[in-house]
Amino acid sequence: MMELGKAAELCYNITTSYLAIDESCSQIVNETQNAIKITRQILLEDVFTRWSPLNGEISFSYNGGKDCQVLLLLYLGCLWEFFILKAKSSQFEMKYQVFPMKTLPTVFIDQGDTFETLEEFITLTARRYGLSMYEPPTNSDSKYTSNMAGAFQVFLDRFPQTEAIVIGIRHTDPFGETLKPIQKTDSNWPQFMRLQPILHWKLRHIWSFLLYSNEPICGLYGCGFTSIGSIHNTLPNPYLERESYPEASLPYSYEIEHGYSGIQADYKPNCLPLSPKDDPLLGHASKFYPGWYLIDDSLERAGRVHRKSSH
Ligand code: FAD
Repeated sequence: MMELGKAAELCYNITTSYLAIDESCSQIVNETQNAIKITRQILLEDVFTRWSPLNGEISFSYNGGKDCQVLLLLYLGCLWEFFILKAKSSQFEMKYQVFPMKTLPTVFIDQGDTFETLEEFITLTARRYGLSMYEPPTNSDSKYTSNMAGAFQVFLDRFPQTEAIVIGIRHTDPFGETLKPIQKTDSNWPQFMRLQPILHWKLRHIWSFLLYSNEPICGLYGCGFTSIGSIHNTLPNPYLERESYPEASLPYSYEIEHGYSGIQADYKPNCLPLSPKDDPLLGHASKFYPGWYLIDDSLERAGRVHRKSSH
């Protein structure tokens, strides 16, 4: 397991490196740099000044999806910056300063019927980023309207010091349009603060930063998936079918060719292989472009089979 301090420093370096790219190299990079600056401002100036990120008051909700992975990279980068600023203002010399947390309090609600590839990715990234992952048992007798809300009550009962939870939701997600970066949960949810610092991010910003980071990408995205739900309601995105769209082009060549630390000798995204259990999906990989070819936010969930909302 990578120590949290090491993971935070890595994420800080990735973010700083991305922000240093010459903004004239692409409009998407320029937009993403601005999106990162807003997220960092929310975290460093509005969140970490109200709740300490170093004592369990803040937890992170993580389901292995691309959005919360990007938010995790940014959050950890800000955590490192917060630690360094505190350390510099301390009376003790820098060499005596030790990163104060071993792991990041994290919650994953296992809603069942998850792709094995995603489960493995969550386990791998929990180790990689120093997450202490708690999985509340889901309670079908919950007094709350959704099973997810009930699971968060179980989480709060287990970790009562939690005051706020970070969420990788965006305005373009269903019911995301009117959300705010910092807000209370709704009255029919257990009460805590929701921290939603990537609401303003678009799909193209997510992929630009993730592809540049050179961090592992969940293998499902390599097979045409763009939004991952349960195995019963998620298919590759039909708008990525190669036969129907033979001319698709990718606007992230800079990010892929100049990825962080430049170790990518063959200029390929760092997309992980599928779990053997999900091998039947291999066929999709040849028929569909990878998920990062989709640019239009409004088509992101076109691979989801319709089901009733839990709201
Ligand atoms: P995604 O885009 O996959 O998820 C968006 C983000 O939600 C993820 O990046 C991750 O941070 C988190 N998330 C999603 N699924 C999981 C999971 N299984 N385990 C852990 N984290 C997950 N809805 C309300 O109507 N009222 C509320 O007050 C409310 N409070 C919430 C508080 C928290 C901490 C969370 C995680 C969700 C809350 N929701 C609430 C539901 C939320 O608005 C989204 O509907 C839900 O997160 C699923 O989003 P999505 O379908 O866009 O999936």
